[in-house]
Amino acid sequence: MMVLNNHHVRLVLFLIFLFFFNPTCLSFNFNTNQTSSLRNQILEIANNPSTVKWIKNIRREIHEYPELAYEEFKTSSVIRRELDNLGVGYEWPVAKTGVVAKIGSGFPPFVALRADMDALPIQELVDWDHKSKVDGKMHACAHDAHVAMLLGAAKILQEMKDKLKVTVVLIFQPAEERGVGAKDMIKENVLDDVEAVFGLHLATQYPLGVVASRPGDFLAGCGSFKAKIKGDLARIPHHCLDPILAASASVISLQNIVSREVDPLDSQVVSVAMIRAVPGHELIPDSVTFGGTYRAFGKKSFNALRQRIEEVIKAQVEVHRCSAEVDFIGKEHPTIPPTTNDERIYQLAKQASSMIVGEENIKLAQTFTASEDYAFFLEKVPGTLFLLGCGSIYSAHSSHFFIDEDVLPIGAAIHAAFALSYHSL
Ligand SMILES: [Zn+2]
Ligand SMILES: [Zn+2]
Repeated sequence: MMVLNNHHVRLVLFLIFLFFFNPTCLSFNFNTNQTSSLRNQILEIANNPSTVKWIKNIRREIHEYPELAYEEFKTSSVIRRELDNLGVGYEWPVAKTGVVAKIGSGFPPFVALRADMDALPIQELVDWDHKSKVDGKMHACAHDAHVAMLLGAAKILQEMKDKLKVTVVLIFQPAEERGVGAKDMIKENVLDDVEAVFGLHLATQYPLGVVASRPGDFLAGCGSFKAKIKGDLARIPHHCLDPILAASASVISLQNIVSREVDPLDSQVVSVAMIRAVPGHELIPDSVTFGGTYRAFGKKSFNALRQRIEEVIKAQVEVHRCSAEVDFIGKEHPTIPPTTNDERIYQLAKQASSMIVGEENIKLAQTFTASEDYAFFLEKVPGTLFLLGCGSIYSAHSSHFFIDEDVLPIGAAIHAAFALSYHSL
């Protein structure tokens, strides 16, 4: 039995004191007057007709000339031109085509805002005045809008920089769709001394102006695997090592991982999507290659799933006296870790977003099995990814994807509100 003595009472009183007077707690207690004054100033700049027209024009200019991963030279020159016009300093090139700008004193604390820049190899099928002018390429994932919104935030922050309590690092990142841009930006030290990062992705599952995210596990990690199974060329079955049989057993056993080893509430995916063997009616091939994708939420589940895929393939192959090499590197489909939002930064971003769109327009998102290379940033520093409804009826990566541009000033204001409210309120 636990007996409370004076020492315990003092400890409890001290903890109560810490809870109420901890500066971290205070930073979440938004002062109503300060909040509405900050909100009004942000919205005044964001909703000014000249700002709105300017942001839309940037988005349209980038939309007309979509560039794939690591080819974002024109996009990057638009970004630099606008930063020059705003009087914001930047570094370029960072990771080939990336741009990193800074607004504020230049001293810590540093808080980062991120936008991705690359387009997709998709033919645009929407007829409008600013349709893609490049055949077979399209901004079908709203990265053109992400760039425009972050430049919009740069304008707001530059005009309100006397209110900033942090130095804002604006990260314009290339090659998200290939899953390599964020990683390469990190290698170039863009997150050095950064204490929090915020990213915003337009989304089609929410109405225009509705913001959604969730604390903790949010998007799945995604990886690919390829197994090469070696057998033995022979015409006499009892002397033959048959990689087709070994591969078939492996493929079937892989299905058991999700159905029999994983908690049904912990969603995971293992799909074999490719199998290749040398054809021949009377000839068993000397090797078979198969591969596929795996997805899971949270680093622990993701790493465990990857380990089981390798174990299952190797064990099944051994039963059939063959050998296997399992490769997870996947140059065409690199591994992307799960997107896990930091709870504290999530709360702060939620409050900053509700300052702009109102509490009634903030939703708790479901987890879903898409992946984002922004997850690499979240592995390095605490941060959060938020979704913003953009009024498209077609999903991202569709040839018909088409956003309501009224979302642009909203996104710019949310980015700015996050940076301005960090350590301010
Ligand atoms: Zn995409
Ligand atoms: Zn995207």
